[in-house]
Amino acid sequence: MRFAIAVVCALAVPALGSSVAAAANCPGNPDALGTSRTLVIDPAEHQLLGTMQYRETLPLNDKEVVITFDDGPLPPYSNRVLETLNAECVKATYFIVGRMAKAYPETVRRIYAAGHSVGTHSQNHPFTFARMGEAAIQTEVEAGIASTNTALGDIGQVAPFFRIPGLARANAVEKYLSDRNIMTWSADFPADDWRHIGGPEVMKRALERLEAKGKGILLLHDIQPATALMLPELLKELKARGYKIVHVVAATPNLPKTATLPEQWLLRGGVQAEARTAKLTWPTPQTVDLRPGVLLPAPNPNSFGVDPAFAEAGPVYIPPARARMRRGEIPLPPLQTWPRSAAQTHDLPAATLPVPGLRNLGVPDVEKAVLTSPTPAPMKAAMATDSTQQAAPATLRVPQRINPALRIPGAPGQWPVPEVRPRHSLMP
Ligand SMILES: [Zn+2]
Repeated sequence: MRFAIAVVCALAVPALGSSVAAAANCPGNPDALGTSRTLVIDPAEHQLLGTMQYRETLPLNDKEVVITFDDGPLPPYSNRVLETLNAECVKATYFIVGRMAKAYPETVRRIYAAGHSVGTHSQNHPFTFARMGEAAIQTEVEAGIASTNTALGDIGQVAPFFRIPGLARANAVEKYLSDRNIMTWSADFPADDWRHIGGPEVMKRALERLEAKGKGILLLHDIQPATALMLPELLKELKARGYKIVHVVAATPNLPKTATLPEQWLLRGGVQAEARTAKLTWPTPQTVDLRPGVLLPAPNPNSFGVDPAFAEAGPVYIPPARARMRRGEIPLPPLQTWPRSAAQTHDLPAATLPVPGLRNLGVPDVEKAVLTSPTPAPMKAAMATDSTQQAAPATLRVPQRINPALRIPGAPGQWPVPEVRPRHSLMP
């Protein structure tokens, strides 16, 4: 339906005819960047997008970019941006300000007719969304949608996409939008084009941040002269670096959503991301096979040969002596010392740890052997206060029938036992 409307409008405005062409077939520009695919998403399913603020973002593959433009339209610059996108057959997502749509309805229609997605960005672009009550949120959101829809007239409707002005998110705003089945779009990276930093710097930041994340939603402003001027170069560079443009549209009863997996909505999710991070992560720890009910005293500084007196007080930095102040001299700021470590306290029940199973030591069959810890003398004294509990002797017991391949060399009495010297504070 929407496509049909876009075609009709393109025919009505011949200059825009190229915009509906696919990437591989961009009339008049065989080297066009193009739009590699259309991603159809269901706003009812994923309500918060963009890793600048949220956990989830669009389910993009590596090297895929979604370009977004906020705050427009503003004809001289928005028109220039539109021409650049049309020349490259690139489809973007716009977040229109209602007041601007009222002022320049023709430009809103041009954007829509060129096949871009048209979301909204409030009526007046207040930076106070985070502090607004529900009534004010409703007024701003609904007026922005109404103004943009009025500008579009009978050629179409806005997409259920909203970007909060200034990204000033708040639970109340997000809840209002999600109750209306409108997606809140943040972004994955901005290019700071509202900071008046000049086209080359905008482009540099856009590319650096894209390279850092590898894919994502780029936030730009089509009302900024620097953006309008640098956009042709940016699109060329994206193509040269192998990036692909994805066009995002909302699902409708006639347009089913693109099938995705939940992990693809996380920036580092998905199979490719897993393969990439697998090379970079720490080695996988061995299986932890904690034996229930078998406990050892927890290590403490004494176990590592730390002098008990030193461990008790914690390391203290003693500043060097300073020269005496002369008359009129301004004192230096006080020397920063390392913080004293807090005195460590150990309750006896918490001063024990489960014994690791033999699987942790590379022995596959953990059911065949039982390790019983030695109980140090101070603990024995502590445990002796409980008449029902006998302090266990320092022994290692092994069941009689054990797989010979798993047998530890030497007699049980010769096996090494861990030396654990509990600190004196464990004494009751
Ligand atoms: Zn804005």
